[in-house]
Amino acid sequence: MNVEYSNRKGNELMKLDSKIFVAGGSGLVGSAIIKNLLSKGYTNIVTNYLTRKPNLNAQSLTLNAKKLDLLDPQAVEAFFNSESPEFVFLAAAKVGGIIANNTYRADFIYENLQIQNNIIHQSYKTGVKKLMFLGSTCIYPKNAPQPMPEDCLLTDTLEYTNEPYAIAKIAGIKMCESYNLQYGTNYISVMPTNLYGPNDNFDLEKSHVLPALIRKIHLGKALERVKWDVLRATGKDENWEIIKKDLDKLPIEGVDGSASQEEILTKLDAYGIKSFNIKHSTLSIDPNSVRIEIWGSGNPRREFLWSEDMADACVYLMENRDFSDVVNSQKDHSKFLALNADTPVSKEQEGCNMDLSNNQYTNTPIHQEVRNTHINIGTGIDISIKELAYMIKDLICFNGELYFNTDKPDGTMKKLTDPSKLHALGWKHTVELHEGIEKMYAWYIGERDS
Ligand code: NDP
Repeated sequence: MNVEYSNRKGNELMKLDSKIFVAGGSGLVGSAIIKNLLSKGYTNIVTNYLTRKPNLNAQSLTLNAKKLDLLDPQAVEAFFNSESPEFVFLAAAKVGGIIANNTYRADFIYENLQIQNNIIHQSYKTGVKKLMFLGSTCIYPKNAPQPMPEDCLLTDTLEYTNEPYAIAKIAGIKMCESYNLQYGTNYISVMPTNLYGPNDNFDLEKSHVLPALIRKIHLGKALERVKWDVLRATGKDENWEIIKKDLDKLPIEGVDGSASQEEILTKLDAYGIKSFNIKHSTLSIDPNSVRIEIWGSGNPRREFLWSEDMADACVYLMENRDFSDVVNSQKDHSKFLALNADTPVSKEQEGCNMDLSNNQYTNTPIHQEVRNTHINIGTGIDISIKELAYMIKDLICFNGELYFNTDKPDGTMKKLTDPSKLHALGWKHTVELHEGIEKMYAWYIGERDS
């Protein structure tokens, strides 16, 4: 142990002018955290990016964004020495869907371990007062009890496809716990459920289910409203323009708005936005003209949290809670060795020469197992994919059909977090799914295109 770095004291308040580093400010999570901090009046925020400069519209005027490759230990060390952040949100990571996780297994474990090792260790070396590590609920076993409590970590086998990613995230949790216990740092780990919100990924090749449904149904709505005879006669139709603009903003496999009508229709068809009767129809809205295909039966149930709610939970915990609070709130949740400062210790529990002093930082008996101190961030409410798709269809006013293709796989039938620890720590979500989807669609057709 390096004595120079020991004896860190936690329990320091985040002040409006504290230097705060949000790693990964261009991502869904990092951008939402920055937006929340700015809205609460924090003035001294620094962030980093690798490929995408953070875009927070007018708010970016006050944002200090540095290009920094977090895989590079020397660059990260130089950054911490020059910026001296007091508080850190670790929201940078290599993330992706099932196919990417399963294909790039080495990249997922290496890059995530490297990013978090660099940031957590430099935070410790430079005396960062508090750090928040962002993980994911894929840390839990494949057959975890539903809803999933924090205590089910490492109780069974992980889902194979994202095992390398999950192992890196579990290592991040253990690194935070271990630095806290050995060095007295104040690092908190949070595991958000599936998120959705502004700056989400709408790329149909890679996106998660909720943004993919929004985009497909949005395109389906425009497609069913195209006046084909007018388009053929004049070359102009406002709904066809909506489709072209959408593809210009985000091409599908290289097909953008400049492609021919046939190329565009073929590509939409390949991604499950299927049009019929185009040759004959002259109607502006034909409920039989467009069908959206959705993989699987629609029966699996999922939980979704508005990304700005998640950011609010993160900032709330950084402002109001310390690692010691989590360890203490844990007593109701965890299977501890029955070693408690107030409880007499039996000979069997003690072993021969058990040290009965307390950990100087957490005030827990030195032989008490401190595990599962991470916190789930979720709503505790799930919805079937079918119900979700119909909710989006109604909200967007798409008249066509939703077709659930049962030849395609369903995936896990239920995945839901148990947020009771978070509730006990004083935070609960406020944006319900219907309201969140309304906001997200407004962002998709408005701010995203501005
Ligand atoms: P994004 O892909 O949207 O953002 C990732 C961020 O990390 C980007 O800012 C990216 O920079 C940055 N980054 C990646 N590699 C490097 C690198 N080598 N050097 C510097 N920066 C890098 O991911 P999310 O915001 O969705 O996820 C962030 C965290 O939140 C992850 O830990 C994830 O597990 C967690 N999470 C996300 C959930 C979700 O539904 N989105 C759910 C639960 C947890 P750039 O864009 O410039 O390349």
